[in-house]
Amino acid sequence: MKLSDISHKDFELKPWWWNAYEPKVLDLVDIPQSADVAIIGAGYAGLATALELSKQGKSSVVFDAEQPGFGASTRSGGVVSGGRSVGKRYTSTSPAEAAHIADLRVDAADAFDLIEGLIRDNNIDCGWHKAGAFSGAWCRRHFNDMKSKVDDLNAVTEGDAYLVHPEQQREEIGSDYYRGGMVVNRGAHLHPALYFKGLLDLCQASDLITICAKAPVTDLNQSPAGWQVGTDRGATMAGDVVVATNGYTGNVTPDLKRRVVPVGSYMIATEELPDDLAKSLSPKNRAISDSRRVLCYYRMSPDGKRLLFGGRARFGQTDPAESAPILYKFMLDRYPQLKGTKITNSWTGNVAFSIDEVPHMGQYKGMHYALGCNGSGVAMMTYLGTQTARKIAGVANYQCAFDTPTMPTHPLYHGDPWFVPWVGRYFRTRDWIDRTFG
Ligand SMILES: Cc1cc2nc3c(=O)[nH]c(=O)nc-3n(C[C@H](O)[C@H](O)[C@H](O)COP(=O)(O)OP(=O)(O)OC[C@H]3O[C@@H](n4cnc5c(N)ncnc54)[C@H](O)[C@@H]3O)c2cc1C
Repeated sequence: MKLSDISHKDFELKPWWWNAYEPKVLDLVDIPQSADVAIIGAGYAGLATALELSKQGKSSVVFDAEQPGFGASTRSGGVVSGGRSVGKRYTSTSPAEAAHIADLRVDAADAFDLIEGLIRDNNIDCGWHKAGAFSGAWCRRHFNDMKSKVDDLNAVTEGDAYLVHPEQQREEIGSDYYRGGMVVNRGAHLHPALYFKGLLDLCQASDLITICAKAPVTDLNQSPAGWQVGTDRGATMAGDVVVATNGYTGNVTPDLKRRVVPVGSYMIATEELPDDLAKSLSPKNRAISDSRRVLCYYRMSPDGKRLLFGGRARFGQTDPAESAPILYKFMLDRYPQLKGTKITNSWTGNVAFSIDEVPHMGQYKGMHYALGCNGSGVAMMTYLGTQTARKIAGVANYQCAFDTPTMPTHPLYHGDPWFVPWVGRYFRTRDWIDRTFG
């Protein structure tokens, strides 16, 4: 299948979300000489850190190498999970690990409350839609595993989760592709770029926050006087530094670069669909994903007129012109009725996987970080930024479960993710075995 066969006349290689809000370079302000806190990265994590710090009376300067929102935060699927994807690899391990994963899920559920409250209290107009999520079972074994997952989610996160047997599947999705699945009612979807704009507007309205676009941080030096944070346009002295660069973490923090593996995630948007067809794809307007290792995730646009379909078309970095036909095939596997539908957009962005597949906040050599969204960061990175700010301001009344003394790395990993395409091939093979024999 060629891109020219599936692309609409208005096709663009940019996020469909950017039709409503496209990240733009702000007026280039002078780099402030000092601030209480310097934040590297102006995505959800960086802006949430700045906002909570300003609530606590602390000033901050947020640096972004590009325009604020350039990273994953305006490119995502906008699916907000209530913690169902946290700690996937721990489902059947020791009691100690089971307790740890329960703590993580409780905090992930708090992340959902936090983002819901933030949007409501600040009237952020971003298509927040609490329609729940459907996760399709890739094979019968996954469906059986979902039984205990449903119990776990109901016990620790009040997820209002239940199993969907194969014969009921059509109530959730206009497809027979899966072997049943599960619903988590405590889930939502939003317009990621408008949510980002809402956070940015709040930051810009605060006298305590300075946002510096096109200011890549190139030097970080700690002295008894604090941190000197250097850019090509000048330097800031700050009492604390927060690294919020997730899938774009670079050489200025080499020790943290060794702790996250950047992986490309890819999306396409269809043209507007006939009403009946659009409504039949996700009858309850759920956010949909599957239990594959190489997962796909999809949902209707906020106006319900088009399908927005995402997944790991490739594991390494690939041109979205190349990923579009791959995703299109994945989409037809699930929805053969979309054959002939054109796509208007294809895009990509980086997510960051941690070695233990759990998001982390903490301190390394004195610098704070909030990193490792593991593909699900709309609520989580907002939450970790907020928790980091509360910790710096000394107002955190408990240590959140994602705040651990260390963030693991691997002795052979130094920040060059050369192996990612091979991992992708291995996962695809495991998926094929599960689907065929599982
Ligand atoms: C295609 C796609 C689909 C996704 N779908 C979902 C979804 O449906 N649900 C969900 O929960 N999550 C999803 N995610 C993940 C989610 O978008 C991210 O977890 C989240 O946006 C990360 O926010 P962040 O603030 O940590 O990082 P980012 O938004 O990536 O921001 C990091 C910023 O750091 C800046 N930076 C890097 N180095 C420097 C430097 N040296 N100096 C200054 N600035 C620097 C970058 O320019 C970048 O703007 C998806 C991601 C992608 C790419």
